Amino acid sequence: MGELYIDGEWTRAVAGGRREVVNPYDASVVQTVDEADATDVDRAVRAARRAFDEGEWANTSTRHRADLLLRVHDLLLRDKEEIARTETLDTGKTLAESRFDVEDVANAFRYFAELAGKDGGRVVDVGPDVLSRVVYQPVGVCALIAPWNYPLLQASWKVAPALAAGNTFVLKPSETTPLTTIAMIRLIEEAGAPPGVANLVLGSGATVGAALTGHPEVDLVSFTGGLATGRTIMAAAAEGPKTVALELGGKNPNIVFEDAHFDAAVDYALDAAFLHAGQVCSAGSRLLVQEALYDRFVDSLAQRARAIRLGNGMEEGTESGPLSSAEHREKVERHIAAAREEGARLVTGGTRPDDPALSSGFFLLPTIFADCDRSMGIVQEEVFGPVVTVERFRTEDEAVELANGTRYGLAGGVWTSDASRAQRVAQRLRHGTVWINDFHPYVPQAEWGGFGRSGVGRELGPTGLREYQEAKHIYQNL
Ligand code: NAD
Repeated sequence: MGELYIDGEWTRAVAGGRREVVNPYDASVVQTVDEADATDVDRAVRAARRAFDEGEWANTSTRHRADLLLRVHDLLLRDKEEIARTETLDTGKTLAESRFDVEDVANAFRYFAELAGKDGGRVVDVGPDVLSRVVYQPVGVCALIAPWNYPLLQASWKVAPALAAGNTFVLKPSETTPLTTIAMIRLIEEAGAPPGVANLVLGSGATVGAALTGHPEVDLVSFTGGLATGRTIMAAAAEGPKTVALELGGKNPNIVFEDAHFDAAVDYALDAAFLHAGQVCSAGSRLLVQEALYDRFVDSLAQRARAIRLGNGMEEGTESGPLSSAEHREKVERHIAAAREEGARLVTGGTRPDDPALSSGFFLLPTIFADCDRSMGIVQEEVFGPVVTVERFRTEDEAVELANGTRYGLAGGVWTSDASRAQRVAQRLRHGTVWINDFHPYVPQAEWGGFGRSGVGRELGPTGLREYQEAKHIYQNL
């Protein structure tokens, strides 16, 4: 029995490829899994095509599909602890974060089950002699490609609506973090998905990902990952053309006005920047602090950042884990070196910890650069690590201009005790999500996605289901 799931069978890669999955906490091998190639991708896409074309799944009632999603919800909660432990071994994030993720994944399945169950299309009033209806039907075979930072969560935001809408899919997790995705597919199998509806291929982006996005039998590609990969995928999909949804990176401003609740703003700024070692697409990696508070805020934040307990995510008391891989840590270190060269003031961090207990893992100290300005690369580029920049502003207009001053537009935070200012600024920010006096929460009922180069399309919310549907107008002359 292998780790690829194709046409209702767990199967090995045809060419026999294998890959080691590494624990970023200590570089130990957690498990070895199949590494697919283009032949396996073709098998999986053909299975999904057959299952879709035969229509058994697409033509079931939405109630039937919703029931399957609800069973997956229940199974996820049944296996929550085991899945959370696997996620922590695979990603290095803390067990508390992983538990939270599994609950959110279960919630996504429940949300899309409920939404699909209520989705009856709509009637358009054309007049007494016409029956005009808009109905929503599945797109077809979906290629779903997920990143390594939230392996299970990001995959579920695609899998749940794709299934709810009646599509079939081939899922490819990141090659570095496939383990909880395997667990989720096992639960979808246990819940009773017919053969060919859900398929899983594992392997590199360059081989498996490219074969998947370029496959002529794929109708839709939904991708979460970096901007450069997103561009490659969009270009590959143009050949179809295929429907494309992209959830890309962010360089998310967190604006602190002088009338903000100081302690709460520092608290949340810390979490916004350093949750999961900053490897979060919506990380608050750009702090904008109003002049009057600036020095006190930077001092306070630095003090708190130095106190973050790095360690093994499996142990209670660990507040932050390592970066995901040796290569990724080197990339973040290159950003840090460049920031120093361009004159950003290093307030704290910037190096690997000197604790020998952490020396075999891919750790970096929480890092703060102050006195930054938006001409700097460190302010413009997504670092995707435990690095936050701080810029100073004077007026509300200046804050908005700075906050909108990168090519990204995923999320932003506003801290103020003035409710009308909060709404005014939120309205003006060119970002897909704006938090006021908070940072990071999202709910499955509300859309998630980016303005500008942070993406194309939306996940979650009613739009997150529509991404997986074609609208059809049925016009009957009575
Ligand atoms: P990545 O772009 O390197 O890889 C993402 C996925 O794409 C992986 O499964 C990878 O194997 C695959 N891939 C790589 N090359 C491919 C190709 N040519 N064709 C098809 N697939 C290919 O991203 P990553 O490093 O895994 O994830 C980090 C990035 O993801 C960050 O930029 C982060 O901001 C972004 N992200 C965005 C969101 C969001 O909701 N907007 C959420 C999480 C992560």
